[in-house]
Amino acid sequence: MSASDRKVVQKFGGSETLEGAGVRLRRMFGNGEVPLLDPFLLLDNFGSSNPVDYLAGFPWHPHRGIETVTYMLNGNVEHEDSLGNSGVIGGGEVQWMSAGSGILHQEMPKRIEGTMSGFQLWVNLPRRLKMEVPSYRGLRADDIPVVRREDESVVKVVAGEFNGVEGPVRGIPVDPTYLDVQLPAGIAIRLPTRRGHTAFAQAISGSGAFGPPRSKDPPTTLRPGETPESSGATRAGETSLFDDGDAVEARAGDEGLRFLFVTGRPLREPVAWYGPIVMNTREEILEARRDLERGTFIRSQKVINEI
Ligand code: MN
Repeated sequence: MSASDRKVVQKFGGSETLEGAGVRLRRMFGNGEVPLLDPFLLLDNFGSSNPVDYLAGFPWHPHRGIETVTYMLNGNVEHEDSLGNSGVIGGGEVQWMSAGSGILHQEMPKRIEGTMSGFQLWVNLPRRLKMEVPSYRGLRADDIPVVRREDESVVKVVAGEFNGVEGPVRGIPVDPTYLDVQLPAGIAIRLPTRRGHTAFAQAISGSGAFGPPRSKDPPTTLRPGETPESSGATRAGETSLFDDGDAVEARAGDEGLRFLFVTGRPLREPVAWYGPIVMNTREEILEARRDLERGTFIRSQKVINEI
């Protein structure tokens, strides 16, 4: 509608990656993309009906300086940390974990019939909060408010706001929006965004298009001279990164479209990345590695459990 609709500037198909003790996943973006998606560092897309692809899991490993956001669509991940916290993240549930100064934890998918699927997003912490007390927020499916519109589109609000409904994850430094949007065939939705905030969408299923509407063409049809990026076309599994603006318009194709919609305030700080530890300087990475060697990695014996 308006000149400030965001357009797709880049798409990511992801690359197959072995992570943890041998989990097969698709990494949609990661340290090769820094600082393009600032404040977001990494997005992993899990999805397999073969337990061999995921049962090895992510045994004991450290994190420092970041938040990890796990959203399970289907399946169960058992988590446990070095301070004795434990639980299960099940289908439709979210764990928003702020590692702060450091945690040691494990994340172990359990065998299920059918397809295990979900996402883990890494959100950077600003320099001033990288050494803060760690915290967990675990959301059950019914903790996540659902906006149902008359056109039968459904929006689950994990963080940020949609249609006046605020998500339960609040007080995150980069002021994120995290929505799970499901559009029936042919339906469009406008998602307001804050100017200057980074925004991306991860298509989960179906197909459609993002960006200013062009015409009455099916949204997945390319015109002469158009690239998939400039058309905004998307389908299951793709990540679309947007330019700046006040809103993203999404339109579902014939199969409908489900996608994650994520925005956040860029930090514009230097990134020093060592596996699951992301700091600002090389010295801080060396300090973290020394801490791991000496057993002094855990700085706070306290972990805040919220919600
Ligand atoms: Mn982890």
